[in-house]
This record gives sequence, C-alpha cells and structure tokens, in this order.
Amino acid sequence: MTEHFIEYYSDVKKQKKTTVKGAVRSLALSALAALSSDKALLKPRVHFLYIHHTFRDEEAQLEALLKRLSQHHTFISYSEAVQKILSGQVDRPYITFSSDDGFKNNLKAAEILSRYNASACFFVNPGMIGETDYNKIRKHCNDTLKFPTVEFLNWNEVSKLQEMGHEIGGHTMMHMNIAEHTADAINADLHNTYQSLLKHCGPTPHFAFPYGRFFHFSRVGRKAVFDNGFTTCATAERGAHITNGTTIAAADLCIRRDHIVLGWDMSHIMYFITNSAAKATTANNYFPSSLI
Ligand SMILES: [Zn+2]
Repeated sequence: MTEHFIEYYSDVKKQKKTTVKGAVRSLALSALAALSSDKALLKPRVHFLYIHHTFRDEEAQLEALLKRLSQHHTFISYSEAVQKILSGQVDRPYITFSSDDGFKNNLKAAEILSRYNASACFFVNPGMIGETDYNKIRKHCNDTLKFPTVEFLNWNEVSKLQEMGHEIGGHTMMHMNIAEHTADAINADLHNTYQSLLKHCGPTPHFAFPYGRFFHFSRVGRKAVFDNGFTTCATAERGAHITNGTTIAAADLCIRRDHIVLGWDMSHIMYFITNSAAKATTANNYFPSSLI
C-alpha cells in the first residue's frame, strides 16, 4: 500500500461527502452568526477551546483567530485556567487552548500559539506516539478516530511542545471509549497512560476523556481518572466557565471545551465561542448527576 498522510484540510473535506444535513447546518450557522454580537466576548470567564489538527491550509486561520480573540481576551495556560476556576476568581475573559489525539501537525499549532503568547495542553495517546507502522496508523485513524490517515507526534516532538511552554495531558493509551469498559480495564489503561507520560514528560495533571460527550464517560471512569494520578478531567461538551467566588475541589470540576475546526468559516467559529460565552453558568463547572 502506498503510504500517504493527509496534509491539507481540503483533502479531509473531499473524503467526507457533503450531506444535505451538513449544508443545512452550515446555512443555519451563518444565519445565527449574523445575529450574534461580540458583546458576550467581554464577559469575565475561562474559555477552553480545542482543536485536533492544524493542517497547512488551516495555519492562517489559527493566526486570524488568535488575532481576533486577543482583542477581548487574555491567553493563559491550561493549568492557570484550571486554577482560576478552582479559586472561584475569574475577573476577566480568559482563553486557553487544547488539542486532542497527538497529530504531528500539532507542532505547527504550538509554534503559532507561542508566537501569539497563547498556550495549549496537548492531550495525547501514548500508545500512538512515535508509531511508524503505516497500517497501524491507518487503522487507528480509520477505525478509532474516523478520520483520514495522518502522521502522529513522536516523543522528541512531544518534548519540543513542552520546551515551547505548552503542556501535555492524558487521553488514554489508544483512545478508549471509557463508557464501554469495566472499572478494571479503565484503571489498567489510565495507570499505563499516566505512568507512560510520567516517564516521558514528567507529571501530567490533566486528562481529557476520548470522544468527549458525557455519554462517552462513566462514574467508574471519572473515579479512575483521579485514582491513577490525574488531577483534572475535561470533556468535549460545549460551554464556558464563570465563577461566583466559591472555591471548587479539582475532582469536582468538569471542564467544558468548545470544539473548533480551523477549516470552518471564521463566523461559525466565533458563533460557537460567543454562544457559549453568552450561556455560561456556574452549573457548567460541575459534572452532571449521571457521572457523580
Ligand atoms: Zn480524541
């Protein structure tokens, strides 16, 4: 088989058929984006944004987004963002970034973020870091991530991200859907994930569970995250964090993140951010009762 790794988002789009549902969604988003105002962006809050990839044809959009967001926001590290919510003191609009799954093009994202004094936590699957077997990579992308074949970071590159001032976090060994596994299997995986990252990166307090919706997680999974060394837990449920002066225990904090694809229209990206900012409540800081 010829080895080919995707390098352009336009090629990702070519592989995904444009559906009627997708076209309607795009039109609806454009209409909603036209109605939303920047006012919500002034709201003091901690806003976690997350991406998966920064392909070559998405680099300029990341720069444009950083320029746009810097007008209203202070960029802080993931750890600082967590601390602000835990202390109950959020006095200004803050943004921090993260990126999941450990694609090699995260290096480019890291460079661009650093240039704008922005910071990210990169959530990686240690079982895929440094993987060079093309068939294994293709299978992981296709079967587990439902994505075209892309290159992954190696451990040297993960160290480079840290040297640039970014953070590394856990995302299970091989992108496990935690909701489908027993407590024993989850504990074994999270133990290996934490220990592997500890060996290569030093302590990594942050964890984001794969797939990210609440139904991809479980009570036993949540307990296992904290039992195996991690001290924070992130979802991919949309929302921003505001506080009312009350401190929160780290294990009680449910981090919400707004997913962004840099290949989207800027107006659509800004719609999601503005909408989450406008709707932020202190209830967003806690896990739903189904996970407690
Ligand atoms: Zn993921």
